[in-house]
Amino acid sequence: AAAPKEDAKIEGAVQIAIGVKKEVDFPTWYTNVLLKAEMIDYYTVSGCYILKPWSYGIWEEIQSWFNSEIKELGVQNSYFPMFVSASVLEREKDHIEGFSPEVAWVTRAGTTDLEEAIAIRPTSETVMYPYYAKWIRSHRDLPLKLNQWNSVVRWEFKNPQPFLRTREFLWQEGHTAHLTKNEADVEVRQILELYRRVYEDLLAVPVIPGVKSEKEKFAGGLYTTTIEGFIPTSGRGIQAATSHCLGQNFSRPEMFNIFVEDPNDHSKSYVWQNSWGLSTRAIGVMVMVHGDNQGLVLPPRVATVQVVVVPCGVTSKLTDEQRAAISDTCEDLAKRLKKVGVRARADLREGYTPGYKFNDWEQKGVPLRLEIGPIDLKKQSTLAVRRDNGAKAPIALASLETDVPALLETIQSDMYARAKATYDSRIVAVTDWKHFVPALDSKNIVVIPWCEEEACEDDIKERSGRASEPQDERAPSAGAKSLCIPFDQARWAPIEPGKTKCTACGKDAKQWTLFGRSY
Ligand code: AMP
Ligand code: ZN
Repeated sequence: AAAPKEDAKIEGAVQIAIGVKKEVDFPTWYTNVLLKAEMIDYYTVSGCYILKPWSYGIWEEIQSWFNSEIKELGVQNSYFPMFVSASVLEREKDHIEGFSPEVAWVTRAGTTDLEEAIAIRPTSETVMYPYYAKWIRSHRDLPLKLNQWNSVVRWEFKNPQPFLRTREFLWQEGHTAHLTKNEADVEVRQILELYRRVYEDLLAVPVIPGVKSEKEKFAGGLYTTTIEGFIPTSGRGIQAATSHCLGQNFSRPEMFNIFVEDPNDHSKSYVWQNSWGLSTRAIGVMVMVHGDNQGLVLPPRVATVQVVVVPCGVTSKLTDEQRAAISDTCEDLAKRLKKVGVRARADLREGYTPGYKFNDWEQKGVPLRLEIGPIDLKKQSTLAVRRDNGAKAPIALASLETDVPALLETIQSDMYARAKATYDSRIVAVTDWKHFVPALDSKNIVVIPWCEEEACEDDIKERSGRASEPQDERAPSAGAKSLCIPFDQARWAPIEPGKTKCTACGKDAKQWTLFGRSY
């Protein structure tokens, strides 16, 4: 283990590491963590960021898991152009109304003005569906299930934040067409379940699956299912990923006219469509939920480096052979771990103290550090130090291949359990309006029996917005929005039709609904 002198150095380093405390100045903490951990760099175009290897590697882990799952469901990857002509983009009225303020247009090439401006996709429904109409000729062509990994551009004017809200973002967008509504409904939920697993199993971030209100659903869709996350430090909800049933809104004759003909009576069946997307926002949510005042804390399943092995106590008193034995052991441990599928690395950089290295890897959130010094070597053991809770325990070198993967699993599930307990403790059931805004002000989200009426939702936003928080257009909206109507209604007392009233307006309540200030 490290010498006491080095420990003192580390503590000094930690104090200046992130610059500000998470609880004190959360937005600055967030960007500092991302910069120090080499997750991102700023870019000259506002609202756009560079994803450096340390964050892109997390995206690749998500991609590879999700890809194999959707392929099991018969989804195929493909690629469509990023440009869409104005006439096609504007075909679905509700859809374009939802997106038009954020669409970026190409109007010029070199010095020549284009005859017709060309839009950059904010999402690809209108890009893809003319071709769905062409390709889907008979019921044998159904279901059609395509996905693409790409980037989309939404010229958002709300405060940009790395990962959470950027003007160009990476995502996957799945677009499927089915013969029946039932088939489409089933798939909407299958995909939502995969999204839940990306967040909960890979990122150790708890989410609540549910349906969006009519007001918050996808523009032009039939209904939207969502998983809703929670950022405890700000007390805000965040839409983590969405799986939409578009119904027949895009397939009907006035739209993209996507149908199959009944072989017997030649009647037309317009297809049922879904679209679903998960973006790099997931990485930002993970950082906000797990990071601490030393920096990033990565869940093992997505960490590019899961274990770092650091040589310690290599003083001038050691002989050359003793030094070599320590670095050889470090390399050997990393090699053995890699053989059993652990992403391990030995940090043998010359000219850096162990304290510097500890701090460096802690900032970068590496889940587990193994220390090897002369005494460890003698005892044939290594000191394992967890990033998530700082716990230290020796591991016998002989049982490395079983103990380290097991410990990584424990870290993963502990991180999830802690975040889940926090989320659960910050959902306040409110049946009397007077508790609504105070609950939000104490950084909770609330769940109320709700009437599901749009006017009531607008009213809730109004009444919760002008309360204590100063209205700042650039800040995430200060009024509460509906986040979702959770599928799991059994968490709260049953709603009695005709008896249970809406907390906000007093009309008959339909279902428990989550409301919160949100990103
Ligand atoms: P949508 O097509 O609007 O349902 O978006 C799909 C998902 O992408 C949403 O559920 C968000 O999690 C995410 N998302 C939406 N806008 C942004 C953005 N500006 N930056 C990053 N992620 C976003
Ligand atoms: Zn109401």
